[in-house]
Amino acid sequence: MANIEIDPQTISITWTLLCTALVLLMQPGFTCFESGLVRSKNNINVALKNVADFCISGVCFWLIGYGLMYGASQSGLFGTEQFALNSYDDPSVLAFFLFQMMFCGTAATILSGAVAERMRFSGYIICSFLTATILFPIVGHWIWHGKHFTQAPLGWLFELGFIDFAGATVVHSVGGWIALVALIIVGPRLGRFTSEGEPKELYCQNLPLSALGTFLLFIGWFGFNGGSVHTPNLELARVFSNTALSACAGGVSALLLSWNLHSMQGIRYVLNGLLAGLVAISACADLVNLPSAIVIGAIAGCISVLLGDLLEKFKIDDVVSAVPVHLGGGIWGTLAVAFFVPIEKLKLETHTEQLIVQLLGICVSAVWVCGIGFVALWLINFFHPLRVSAQTETIGLNFGEHGMKDELIDLMEQFDKIAKNESNPQHLNVDHGSNNASLCMTYNYLLDHTSRHFKAREDELLRLASLDPLTGIPNRRVYEQALRDTFERSCEQKQHFCLLVIDIDNFKQYNDHYGHQLGDYCIQNVCQALSNGLTVKNGLLARIGGEEFAIIMPNTRLKNAKNVAQNICRAVSELEIPHRAAQGEFVTVSIGGTCWDYTREVNVKQLFDEADRALFHAKRNGRNQVFFSSDDDALG
Ligand code: GH3
Ligand code: MG
Ligand code: MG
Repeated sequence: MANIEIDPQTISITWTLLCTALVLLMQPGFTCFESGLVRSKNNINVALKNVADFCISGVCFWLIGYGLMYGASQSGLFGTEQFALNSYDDPSVLAFFLFQMMFCGTAATILSGAVAERMRFSGYIICSFLTATILFPIVGHWIWHGKHFTQAPLGWLFELGFIDFAGATVVHSVGGWIALVALIIVGPRLGRFTSEGEPKELYCQNLPLSALGTFLLFIGWFGFNGGSVHTPNLELARVFSNTALSACAGGVSALLLSWNLHSMQGIRYVLNGLLAGLVAISACADLVNLPSAIVIGAIAGCISVLLGDLLEKFKIDDVVSAVPVHLGGGIWGTLAVAFFVPIEKLKLETHTEQLIVQLLGICVSAVWVCGIGFVALWLINFFHPLRVSAQTETIGLNFGEHGMKDELIDLMEQFDKIAKNESNPQHLNVDHGSNNASLCMTYNYLLDHTSRHFKAREDELLRLASLDPLTGIPNRRVYEQALRDTFERSCEQKQHFCLLVIDIDNFKQYNDHYGHQLGDYCIQNVCQALSNGLTVKNGLLARIGGEEFAIIMPNTRLKNAKNVAQNICRAVSELEIPHRAAQGEFVTVSIGGTCWDYTREVNVKQLFDEADRALFHAKRNGRNQVFFSSDDDALG
């Protein structure tokens, strides 16, 4: 078999490109991690931000960022060439550029999760642009220019001996600082803190998705740190094992500390601790031994928990703990270089000198990123608010910012419509293929059930409001309406109708003699007799006063009405009410009647008065008799 020799440059380029692909895997990692930590109404927005910021940072880094970071240096401060890189001639530069572009994408995306659920998409895009074009490249120039291209002048921090192996400061602290600035300017989500300032947990949509994202990030980190070796050599075993163990130690320490502090084993703490361990070890994964990597990771894990709690105290609402993880882990990892790297591997003579330079690097990058970031974001916020409206925030950014409806929004819209038409609640549309189907059906069932219940109650109330409690026949309210209806109908249909007004004779005496209770009994008996005597079709008997009744007889002529009235009068006088019969006395009624035909020009009120006057006449004539208004012209 032929012995194929591959030159070292090809191996190095291949390795860098492989690691580039691995670092790219961190993007889906971030996407899953962040999408899982927001509420479902914002997950599309978060995913879109992750994709968009990567694309934007890629183009911006190619156009401007790479030149500022790795172009020939101006006094160690910024690069001045290689803008809009065009370098097919040198594959190693191209591979290196791509690898750095992934770093830039990582720095730019750290912000997205922190300010999730309330930052405007357009404002976020401007932040990504800012990070990719100047914030990340300038810090990168100070610290890394000289590491790969040795043409003087070198980056000023590099020259001073600052050590940052794979971007604890250049990538993670830069991303963390800009996230912190944005968090302060944008403010916490609605409802994240109570009016008393107490933190309130908002629901996450899918923590297992965040766990998957964390593992994707973990895998990607091997490209992050492994690629920073730039050529596959034996050093990789150290870098990989330090990376893995620091991550695990971070997860364990965060778990134990949060368990201790918050008496629970929250998955968020473990994920954050693991990621903080990865961030911290990025500063020196090639320079420390395994025990040191574990201690660095463990401390980073604790920092992520404590810093997270501290931010909450200051009412800074970092949705995905980007600041505790990337800034906290980044600063700690950068300082850890001075504590854990053996002296012979340091760039400076003593640990103290190294510590001073590391601190200096941390401080200047903070001033640079926060200074530019604060001014830029403040100005942008002034002219074009970085925060969405309260209404958009409430309905969710998926719909509010991108018009992306989901089943929940559809449901909310349907409820909204129902609420606006509250007098007549409608059924929800049931889409049997949707997740809401059973919810909608349950709502519809409950609606039907309560409607039936209310209808029955309403009928009962109406019945009670229409009937006279003593006799069980319609009361005055029903009588008045029925009289108006009969009048109108008779007008329309050109028909006759008659009205009788009936009053028990000398009932006051009756009451005085027998007492109220027997009086009631008498009224009930009279009512029964009236009801029996009402032989007219559709006739209505009502109790319109104490011992007064009325009968409406639709489509009835005078003769017929007189017969009915006479019969009733007789029937009542023949009533055998026990206590009364014993005395040889009987109950009698007087009846006044009137008849209407469509040729007459009287209204309902006049008609009733006619009947009433006829009744009066019957009383005056000696009671126990019927009198009709038409019987005596003298009546009028
Ligand atoms: P007239 O023959 O002229 O109609 O004499 P009257 O005594 O019947 O006339 P009046 O209208 O003065 O008396 C009606 C009485 O009916 C007065 C009241 O004590 C009695 N009454 C009214 N409502 C009720 C009731 O619900 N139960 C009982 N027991 N008595 C009632
Ligand atoms: Mg009376
Ligand atoms: Mg009476």
